[in-house]
Amino acid sequence: MASQFERQDNLLEDCVNSLKTCKELIETHLDGPERAGELSQLEAIVKDYCLLSFNASKSSEACREVLDYFNNESTDHDVDIDELYNTKLASKKQAFSGNYPEEEIWKEVFMGVRDREIEEVEQGTSQDDATEYEEMGDSIFCSNVFTPPVDPISKMVIQNPYKSKKCGHIYDYKFILQYIKSRKSKAQCPYIGCNNGSISVDQLVKDQETQSKIENYQRNTNTESD
Ligand SMILES: [Zn+2]
Repeated sequence: MASQFERQDNLLEDCVNSLKTCKELIETHLDGPERAGELSQLEAIVKDYCLLSFNASKSSEACREVLDYFNNESTDHDVDIDELYNTKLASKKQAFSGNYPEEEIWKEVFMGVRDREIEEVEQGTSQDDATEYEEMGDSIFCSNVFTPPVDPISKMVIQNPYKSKKCGHIYDYKFILQYIKSRKSKAQCPYIGCNNGSISVDQLVKDQETQSKIENYQRNTNTESD
């Protein structure tokens, strides 16, 4: 049974890797409306995968609980397995949040942006503050090497990452600030296909986790090229 869970994880990881490749190809070879169209299609697929993965993990949990039940010597073994499974599954009340940017698959595909403008990296000024951030768990989807995210407005590697609390997208503070000021109430998240239709300054929080990763990355790259 354990190997079946593993196979499921591996399959999902393969799918996620294909989606990442897809995104890279779109960004490398397409422009304008064609690119936007393909990216929004890709987003729809990634959303499906997020939901699929959520449901799969719920049924895996229910399966494990059924196994545990039957492995326990003292339990009543005349119980109907299907019924028990359905009861266990139903007990997992927690519904899918629909907050895709918080899902591991989404983060993996859309936020570990592969950077083609590495030569533009400059040593960022470190800006420490005590802003809290969520830890990204050591899930199978986070095993890939970090590449610094690119700001959607300036198209340059982000130096001072701020994150929208609403959609989870990351921007360079300087550019998102200019953008919001210039569009005022009409500002929407500049990531193609994002459904966050109104973005404001009070929605932005310092993304300390990404900041640390960028600094680490830049430190390592600089050491290698010396
Ligand atoms: Zn967004």
